[in-house]
Amino acid sequence: MPRPTVARVDLDALRHNYREASRLAGHARAMAVVKADGYGHGIAAVAKALAGEVERFAVACLEEALAIREAGLGQTVVLLQGVHAVEDVATCVRLGLEPVIHCERQLDWLAAGNEVPAFWIKVNSGMNRLGFRAAELPAVMASVRALTDAGRGAFLGFVTHFAAADDPDRKTTESQTRYFQDAVAPWPEALLSVGNSAAHFRVDQPLFDWSRPGIMLYGASPMAERCGAELGLKPVMTLESELTAVRWLNPGDTVGYGETWRAEQPTRMGIVAVGYGDGYPRHAGTGTPAAINGQRVRLIGRVSMDMLAVDLTGAPNASPGDRVELWGAEVPVDEVARHAGTIGYELLTGVTARVPRIYSGAEPDTGH
Ligand SMILES: *Cc1c(COP(=O)(O)O)cnc(C)c1O
Repeated sequence: MPRPTVARVDLDALRHNYREASRLAGHARAMAVVKADGYGHGIAAVAKALAGEVERFAVACLEEALAIREAGLGQTVVLLQGVHAVEDVATCVRLGLEPVIHCERQLDWLAAGNEVPAFWIKVNSGMNRLGFRAAELPAVMASVRALTDAGRGAFLGFVTHFAAADDPDRKTTESQTRYFQDAVAPWPEALLSVGNSAAHFRVDQPLFDWSRPGIMLYGASPMAERCGAELGLKPVMTLESELTAVRWLNPGDTVGYGETWRAEQPTRMGIVAVGYGDGYPRHAGTGTPAAINGQRVRLIGRVSMDMLAVDLTGAPNASPGDRVELWGAEVPVDEVARHAGTIGYELLTGVTARVPRIYSGAEPDTGH
């Protein structure tokens, strides 16, 4: 028997969430962000399930774009961090990948190639990780013009990324948007791409030509204080396992490493076959919810590599072999993340290779 710990991936929910992103994007089109192995869901399956409705995918790096091609998909793929070496330029041309160029070094690599792929230019509007500031753009665009006038490659447009779109009370996104619009105004024919998931939920936020939803496609919330379901999203991944043992603890008994939790009264306790070796967060402390047979229970003690303990008081009929949901429709991943002091993104992308992904829904559709 295989281990009962699996990540079920509902591809119908994924499609629902993509449609929701497209609807919220309004006149903008939504490129589906599938980096980090489709946020832990499996990039090939995710890309195939969305292929019927998505024109552009976005990934962090070349290897991820190759995975999309190996899945047999021909959609355009945007490389959000551009290329990492001069030889990657030819790969982009060959495979129809669009790098986002964020620095002089990458521009030089483009200029060095015989052929140049279609590409984007990244504007730093305040995130201050990557990209050109407004004052640098005239010189950058002179280099771009030199390239494209020579008939090599096509300049598509400008990209920028928001630093605090998830915080409805902060106005950083509005000021970044104004900065971006002013910076790119001299090139009115360029396409414009802004907008992580959080930006889709901001009232009156322009998303221009192409938005870039990621986490919302997977049904998790980009906002710390809200769950995906409250935003109309459906959870795509259910991390589940089984109760492998049940025992009674006497007052004074402890559970697990470090004796961090001690029973104060007779307590029925269960062991679940999942741990940080599967990507379940070790920082999820006592009180983190899980669900058994539709009833909520809470973690007690420390999460180990291969198992964790739950107090079964909330599910008195639970017995060995019963299914346990660690996150999914009953226990939002966002809620587990809060208990672990992190965000749903980290939990979803952190599910390890030991956990089989089991897919349901959405017959993979490879057409356009
Ligand atoms: C990851 C990423 C996104 C998607 O962000 P989410 O918060 O997951 O929606 C969009 N744009 C860029 C540049 C990214 O790196």
